[in-house]
Amino acid sequence: MKHSTSEELYEKALDVIVGGVNSPSRSYKAVSGGAPVFMAKADGAYFWDVDGNRYIDYLAAYGPIITGHAHSHITAAITTAAQNGTLYGTPTELEVRFASMLREAIPSMEKIRFVNSGTEGVMTTIRVARAYTKRDKIIKFAGCYHGHSDLVLVAAGSGPSTLGIPDSAGVPSSIASEVITVPFNDIKSFRAALERWGQEIAAVLVEPIVGNFGIVQPEANFLQQVNELTHSAGALVIYDEVISAFRFKYGGAQNLLGVEPDMTVLGKIIGGGLPIGAYGGRKEIMEQVAPLGPAYQAGTMAGNPASISAGIACLEVLQEKDTYAYLDQLGQKLEQGINELAQKHDIHICLNRLCGALTVYFGVDQVTNYEEAERSDGEAFATFFKGMLMHGINLAPSKYEAWFLTIKHTEQDVRETLEAVDKVFQGMSR
Ligand code: PLP
Repeated sequence: MKHSTSEELYEKALDVIVGGVNSPSRSYKAVSGGAPVFMAKADGAYFWDVDGNRYIDYLAAYGPIITGHAHSHITAAITTAAQNGTLYGTPTELEVRFASMLREAIPSMEKIRFVNSGTEGVMTTIRVARAYTKRDKIIKFAGCYHGHSDLVLVAAGSGPSTLGIPDSAGVPSSIASEVITVPFNDIKSFRAALERWGQEIAAVLVEPIVGNFGIVQPEANFLQQVNELTHSAGALVIYDEVISAFRFKYGGAQNLLGVEPDMTVLGKIIGGGLPIGAYGGRKEIMEQVAPLGPAYQAGTMAGNPASISAGIACLEVLQEKDTYAYLDQLGQKLEQGINELAQKHDIHICLNRLCGALTVYFGVDQVTNYEEAERSDGEAFATFFKGMLMHGINLAPSKYEAWFLTIKHTEQDVRETLEAVDKVFQGMSR
């Protein structure tokens, strides 16, 4: 498989776009470097790159593309929206319809606001939680990504809870010191953090099913205990469902797990492939937001008709019967096939899966928190990633990311993928 046009484009991109990419996760830095593949076209479960190579895609744009690329129902909705004018700066009927659909699917979002990205949604829920509780600090879980606003670009690493240190240059240490990071699935550390800082905590930010150090589920009762302890400290629970909502079932992970937060952030899937974010929660908390309350949030592009139309169309597709059963069935086949091939070639992996999302970690027995994900073998993953790419399978270029199935993937795609895994594992076992 040749990538010469991608390589040429990458040279040009490096000249004009910082690092050659518009989001660092798109670079191949974490998989031993080289030119990232430049894609030219996407349809259903497939990508075609600028050199004409075809790939089965499991990146799904880092999650949003659950209906497959260029789904005809969504494309038609976007076309209609474009023909009617892409941006009004006034309220529209579409926004009301979409907010109602979301509230029906996730009832804890009693009041909703649309924004343009998951980052904006998280940033604003924290502001609203601070306004409501009149406290400043937040707790987050190590390894969970909540966008790139200053406050959440903090990773205190593993081990016992610590005060945050900035994970990015340019984040003032005074801001990072407002964030306490504790290991996921570790209720003892969480309780200890609350015992020490409880009266200062505005909110606890949680990915109820983690998607950012691979797919990691909460242990039994973990989220229930997080809720109880947080509420008894007088703080709010915010679920960041930017990845998890509508990924595992129609609605949020909160519906699947039977626990309700005070506020929720959405993004990715709810935009049907266009930029979007949304946040919402209990009525009295959301009433802190301007124009009703003192917490300010605004957006020129917020609730634009194109993103809202794409979102409505995407949810309509997902409402079809058996969507999630189909994703689960394909996911099971992929999981079983990869595990069997790992055994056949004596490759040490651990595979975490829920419904149509999975992560393959190399060289570890289990991953229940960030520390265990960090210990997984990045070099083995890089070899696997490059091998799969050369066999026409597009994965995310990081050992921490998930594979996402779409409703357009077929059993034949899974078979083709497993044939590639067989060859790549064979090469790795030599
Ligand atoms: N929250 C989670 C859980 C995410 O995975 C991401 C992005 O990957 C974000 C927030 C940020 O969303 P966006 O990239 O739309 O700003």
